[in-house]
Amino acid sequence: MSKNSIRPIARRTVLQGMGLAALVALSPVAAQSNFPDKPVTMVVPFTAGGPTDTVARSLAQAMEKSLGQPVVVENKPSAGGIVAPAEIARSKPDGYRILIHHIGMSTAPALYRKLSYKPLEDFEHLGLVNGVPMTLIARPDFPANNLAELMTYVKANSHKINLANAGLGAASHLCGLMFQSAINKALTTVQYKGTAPAMTDLIGGQTDIMCDQTTNTTNQIKGGRVKAYAITTPKRLETLKEVPTAAEGGLKGFEFTVWHGLYAPKGTPADITGKLNNSLRAALKDEGFRKRMAELGAENFPESQQTPAEHRKLLASEISRWGKLIATAGEFAD
Ligand code: ASP
Repeated sequence: MSKNSIRPIARRTVLQGMGLAALVALSPVAAQSNFPDKPVTMVVPFTAGGPTDTVARSLAQAMEKSLGQPVVVENKPSAGGIVAPAEIARSKPDGYRILIHHIGMSTAPALYRKLSYKPLEDFEHLGLVNGVPMTLIARPDFPANNLAELMTYVKANSHKINLANAGLGAASHLCGLMFQSAINKALTTVQYKGTAPAMTDLIGGQTDIMCDQTTNTTNQIKGGRVKAYAITTPKRLETLKEVPTAAEGGLKGFEFTVWHGLYAPKGTPADITGKLNNSLRAALKDEGFRKRMAELGAENFPESQQTPAEHRKLLASEISRWGKLIATAGEFAD
């Protein structure tokens, strides 16, 4: 008898012995326990080289260590970052395509009437990553030299000043809204698919001012390529000591932190989401990740908040908070 003819008989015997119910119960577990047996893709909803991309690339590098597979970063940029979540919500729920997104996950429902995904219902929430402060910056030759001068100058010249952002609901948009509301002037906004290209235009003088995350602005500020007026934290940052807080510059309550979370499509099996959450937690402890993020002013969520349940809870409360704020600031939403 050839080897080939033995195989089917042996297999049938095993199957009969186990019974159908046992097989049905066993096969998905067997398939899932191998996760990941190929590279995982982390989708970034904004352009390469920008603040979210910077967090994603450091995180991906750290997560590879515990997953034992490459974590490939893929940029799927759009203004407001709404295209990537729509794609992930429709992706196969097998853990191989995950999303990193920021506060924009909670603002989009209030800003887009026809949003094609529901942030709470269409995803498995894998855990919170970190919080990143923002900085108010301008092109290097902008006339104002401090926050008070900036406010006076922008108020008086609002008709000719452009404010760059990464689209409706992006952190730069929200922070820009806060600034416009503080000076009570609406500015012309220029929308990009991420603040990386906006930064290039700002440095080149094609646009005037922007509010952007320290993960994108720290090196530009230190290098003198942009002017910095304020940081959106209650205290100055160690890494950007020279930049005053908004309150020091006369803008009380101008505080803003951009939080990031990881998402998988709804229906991703629990053992896979568990592995991804464990890998995220391991990455948040990783020395290289911590060092790189600390240099850029980002701060990890505390361990007690690194669970999927805490992620979901924060997202829900942010959706309701921003829903109210956006409704009030509606006159400035472009
Ligand atoms: N985080 C976005 C980016 O990566 C920009 C923004 O939210 O303003 O470009």
